[in-house]
Amino acid sequence: MKRLIFASNNAHKLEEVRRILAPLEVLSLREIGFESEIEETGTTLSENSLIKAQAVADWLKNNPMEGDLYIFADDTGLEIEALNGAPGVITARWAGEPACDANNRKKALAELAGKQNRSARFCTIVTLIHGTQTTQVEGEVRGTITSKERGSSGFGYDAIFMPEGYDKTFGELPAETKNSISHRARAMAKLAEILKLENA
Ligand code: IMP
Repeated sequence: MKRLIFASNNAHKLEEVRRILAPLEVLSLREIGFESEIEETGTTLSENSLIKAQAVADWLKNNPMEGDLYIFADDTGLEIEALNGAPGVITARWAGEPACDANNRKKALAELAGKQNRSARFCTIVTLIHGTQTTQVEGEVRGTITSKERGSSGFGYDAIFMPEGYDKTFGELPAETKNSISHRARAMAKLAEILKLENA
């Protein structure tokens, strides 16, 4: 039996990923009994994505589960053009520790105050570990940072990120729209392709 384990407990991400990968069933870390904090010590999104998936794969060696296990993790960065790609790998902790979405959004607006160029992109790297095979795929969405917060759905930087081709932020758009164009959706679509191919 194929079992997908997502190396995250973030309720927003889980909901998005479950919608995108349906009808495949996705288990969270809590559901498999993994309770440790995973330190994101990498210097790139790719390293941090691998660190998360590998931590769970290693844990499963001592805590075996039935089934054909597919472990996957994501790591996302926001890259703002006028800030030379910042915050990038420190997107979650940009405004300091502990990570706080509201403070991060405030910081983005403050750093861009008075700037004409508000172009930015979200990039997600997904790492899949299946047996001895490790695969990474990437998804991105380009857009702009608004001048104030708009909308309250989603999480993270959603209320200040307006994807290209839309006049609403991710915080204002319906979940279905975000889930059809987002960085994570695009990376997950590639993951779904790999999972389908492995099923064939
Ligand atoms: P991580 O992938 O959980 O490390 O996320 C890094 C940072 O990006 C965190 O501050 C998240 O809140 C933010 N983030 C990740 N995905 C999204 C998204 O879909 N929308 C808005 N912010 C996001």
